[in-house]
Amino acid sequence: MPGEPAEAPRAKSARAYSIATVCLSGTLDDRLEAAARAGFDGVEIFENDLIASASRVAEIRARAADLGLRIELYQPFRDAEGAPPERFKSVLRRMRAKLDLAAELGAPTVLVCSSVAPDTIGDDDLAAGQLHVLAGLAADRGLRLAYEALAWGRQVSTWEHSWGLVQRAGHPALGLCLDSFHVLSRTSDYAGIRSLPGDKIFFLQLADAPRLDMDVLQWSRHHRLFPLQGGFDLAGFTRAVDTTGYAGPLSLEVFNDVFRQADPHRTAVDAMRSLIALDDAVRPAAGQPGPLVPAPVLDGIAFAELTVDAESGPELQRWLGLLGFSHVGQHRSKPVQLWEQGGARILLNSSVDRSAPAEGSAAISAFALDSEQPARSAERAAQLLARPLPRTRAAAEADLTAVAAPDGTQIFFGRSEPDGPYGWLGDFLATGDRSGHPAGITGIDHLSLAQPYDRFDEAGLFYRSILGLRDDEAAEYAAPYGLVRTLAVHDPGGRVRLALSVPLLRRGEWAPGVTHPQHITLATGDIEATAAALTAAGAPLLPIPANYYDDLDARLALDPALLTRLRRIGGLYDEDAHGRYVQLFTPVISGRVFFEISQRIGGYRGYGLANEPVRMAAHRALRRAGRPDRGGRLGGVRRGR
Ligand code: MG
Repeated sequence: MPGEPAEAPRAKSARAYSIATVCLSGTLDDRLEAAARAGFDGVEIFENDLIASASRVAEIRARAADLGLRIELYQPFRDAEGAPPERFKSVLRRMRAKLDLAAELGAPTVLVCSSVAPDTIGDDDLAAGQLHVLAGLAADRGLRLAYEALAWGRQVSTWEHSWGLVQRAGHPALGLCLDSFHVLSRTSDYAGIRSLPGDKIFFLQLADAPRLDMDVLQWSRHHRLFPLQGGFDLAGFTRAVDTTGYAGPLSLEVFNDVFRQADPHRTAVDAMRSLIALDDAVRPAAGQPGPLVPAPVLDGIAFAELTVDAESGPELQRWLGLLGFSHVGQHRSKPVQLWEQGGARILLNSSVDRSAPAEGSAAISAFALDSEQPARSAERAAQLLARPLPRTRAAAEADLTAVAAPDGTQIFFGRSEPDGPYGWLGDFLATGDRSGHPAGITGIDHLSLAQPYDRFDEAGLFYRSILGLRDDEAAEYAAPYGLVRTLAVHDPGGRVRLALSVPLLRRGEWAPGVTHPQHITLATGDIEATAAALTAAGAPLLPIPANYYDDLDARLALDPALLTRLRRIGGLYDEDAHGRYVQLFTPVISGRVFFEISQRIGGYRGYGLANEPVRMAAHRALRRAGRPDRGGRLGGVRRGR
């Protein structure tokens, strides 16, 4: 897989990490290769994947061994316990066949999930007796059965009930499979798991999920996520299981519509990252050091870098001038300009060796973070399998490590200082230019980056785990061209904020919106003064429709004077329990980039996401009106047909 490490180095852990083949896309061969390359120790073989494989069982066993993968589990065996006597005969026949298969495969354990058959009898003595018989068949072959309560099981749907049957069956070859989804989708009270004997937990399956109010079967089948990507307390759950002395693998079992069709190599790395991060979250509470270097404190976004070409470069320069920035520095060895206003720094990079955007377009291709310990930020990123980016630098230049975010954006770790090994400002020669008329911009409030459809949940985990960012606002809203899902993340100090977005469904052919929009939000302490300065400079800001202000008035009964001022400056408004937010936008510049200028009043914690549909429609209205976004022609957007 281009760009991924061939053998992922992972933070050392004594634990075995495993993944169910059902988590990944492709044929069984594709899935095994992806799991091995991402560094997994073992796999659960999902029955459908084996059945569809062109390889015979012995060949699959050999292939896994070649790849260095243990086959930890064969799954699932369905509708076993509580069967009426007539049907139980066929259960026995099927079990013998599957146990023979598991033995040939080299899988020591077969997963039996609680029956969903309509004729399942609610008689614990009968069910336990049948499980005892089945466990005897497994024992005859030197195998074990791990019994799992499906949250939608016909008679058995809780881990307590499954444990009751395992105890009642009383067979040494019968134990439990605990699956975090089945437990946590039903209850957040899992403390009782701590009292289980660890040697009777034969297998542990881990899956996270967003908190959804929906049918649990559909929830499980379509929306599972890797640990730390959803809303479940996976760390607490895993800690509870650890308390029992369970010594088996941490194994991922995730059914997810997006992962099922995404590049399995990427998904496997994402999965491995989730286990490393989970392991790190679990171990300190058990009195052991976590495997990861702690995430260093971040002091802010040092710069945002726009990749530009011969057409978009001058256009961005013009816009930065209108916004009050000055071109204060020129890179010593590269065609990179440093523009500055207050604490906001923006680089325009016209070097050709970067991933070039389409002709005439610009893109936020990189940003840098001021880290208190840049080398340790980079070390943590490597431990969590961030893809390192090669970088050429002259001898005297700062040692900025760069890693690639899931959307390809480059992230640098450095210090906004003129000197020192990580002081990147020293890489720029002062131009002496202070010609910009400052408009009151004080810094970069946040970056908004549309994510590729397949990589949204991966991106959330990436930023949480690698940078130590925390979730802010997660939302879904109806935008003009479809539903959009967002996730905002921030550092504990509130100095680094990112807003990620993705369409809820993969885009169809009719897509007149801006493809993968990106914007830089510039902070001001006085939005009205900034608006006045921009108007005086001749910066054309995005017109906001009158309907918006009528609605604002109806909903929030704002002070009429404030409403009048908002109308006058074209400001969008939001408020939360902590404060207020006013935002202005530029038109889309050079394809897909634009600027937001915002003021946080009080302790407002959001990102103005409620206003996004209005902002998008306003940008579209500008394009429909044929008003140029830049340089006399429409921005590089696909136009509606
Ligand atoms: Mg399961």
